Amino acid sequence: MRRYSAFAIVREAARYHRGWERAWTSPEPRARYDVVVIGAGGHGLATAFYLGRNHGIRNVAVIEKGWLGGGNTGRNTTIIRSNYLQDPSAAIYEKARSLYETLSQDLNYNVMFSPRGVLMLAQTHHEVRGYRRTAQANALQGVKTEFITPERVRQLVPIIDIDGPRYPVLGALWQARGGTARHDAVAWGYARACSDMGMHILQRTEVTGIAQAGGKVTGVRTTRGDIGCDKLAIVVAGHSGRLAEMAGFRLPIESVALQAMVSEPIKPVMDVVVMANTVHGYLSQSDKGEMVIGGGADGFNNYTQRGSFHHIEETVRALIETFPMLSRLKMLRQWGGIVDMTGDRSPIISKTPLADCFINCGWGTGGFKAIPGSGWAMAELVARGEPGPLAAAFGLERFREGRFIDESVAAGVAH
Ligand SMILES: Cc1cc2nc3c(=O)[nH]c(=O)nc-3n(C[C@H](O)[C@H](O)[C@H](O)COP(=O)(O)OP(=O)(O)OC[C@H]3O[C@@H](n4cnc5c(N)ncnc54)[C@H](O)[C@@H]3O)c2cc1C
Repeated sequence: MRRYSAFAIVREAARYHRGWERAWTSPEPRARYDVVVIGAGGHGLATAFYLGRNHGIRNVAVIEKGWLGGGNTGRNTTIIRSNYLQDPSAAIYEKARSLYETLSQDLNYNVMFSPRGVLMLAQTHHEVRGYRRTAQANALQGVKTEFITPERVRQLVPIIDIDGPRYPVLGALWQARGGTARHDAVAWGYARACSDMGMHILQRTEVTGIAQAGGKVTGVRTTRGDIGCDKLAIVVAGHSGRLAEMAGFRLPIESVALQAMVSEPIKPVMDVVVMANTVHGYLSQSDKGEMVIGGGADGFNNYTQRGSFHHIEETVRALIETFPMLSRLKMLRQWGGIVDMTGDRSPIISKTPLADCFINCGWGTGGFKAIPGSGWAMAELVARGEPGPLAAAFGLERFREGRFIDESVAAGVAH
């Protein structure tokens, strides 16, 4: 595939843009692949990419029932940070964050990584203690964060009302190299790089069954026919429970709707990302000028991809307390995704009871930031059959052994 470059843009401009190739192919499925990945979200595509790049496994298909990135990957608010409390989480999220730093160059695709800094506001004394503790843990883990004063918060975010009526800002956990990236571009960039390695990305192809013989996976049944495989990676976020059922095992996971919305575009007013966990809302400004606003998850399980109306009201009401200027904005649109939540709010990257079938899920409300690290770790697991150091703690057996990786404080809002 021809490289994207400034020179290519000039060349194509001179010939009316007739020379651009398709970014990825749409092939007919082969009868058999070395590895089938179910789910062309960021995590599935990144798994395929690192299988090819790090382990030389290129006879790979990524099977997607809808379109590339049409699941949570294209529906999230794109916050990237790695300031988690527990060591295994900090390790995988920091690996992902550091891979994001050079992802545009690695994929030859501009994923618009913007390390503008992420603030997590402390608005209760409990949160102050919690974030000070996280800052100490991060120092030991080699993750650069600091706890900053309300004055510093005001300098970084001039539109904030730090004396808010219910919850004044008492400080914040600040990660200067956290930020955002363009979600579609992450999916598209990985897809293009996978296609360039000869992998097949099969869109509009739903997996309807998982074939097995003698306790080992042998292939998948799809709406485009049966496809054989030596190894299978299930990477379907909110649909993990359904795919696990097809494979014959159960997961300690729940699927709930999480929603977000954007305002009309306005001039630049805020160049950092702000999360307010106590009042439950988070905010950044997109390159187009829209305020990107995320809220909470529904309190009941469902697959609707919409989210309940009362969350819109609760989220906006909460944010207006801290950002009064938001009350004058019109909201443009709202959407939802189905996220996969584990009890300890940490992911699962694991072997399964079915031999050569592996699963990556449980990223819940915060998996966009993890895509490169998760793909790296999952590819290692699939290629070697055993987890590497990044994935070792995230196996399914931790739920049986009671060895939880509790991120429900660090990841209460989690984005
Ligand atoms: C509103 C919202 C805001 C969020 N904000 C953030 C944030 O700011 N920062 C952050 O880090 N994370 C955030 N997240 C979470 C993040 O989006 C997810 O954790 C992440 O995108 C999961 O990626 P994935 O590749 O695992 O899943 P997905 O992107 O959902 O991909 C899974 C794919 O599997 C496909 N699939 C399912 N079943 C089948 C089948 N039977 N056959 C074939 N294909 C199938 C689906 O169609 C889907 O495309 C947010 C999520 C939502 C919904």
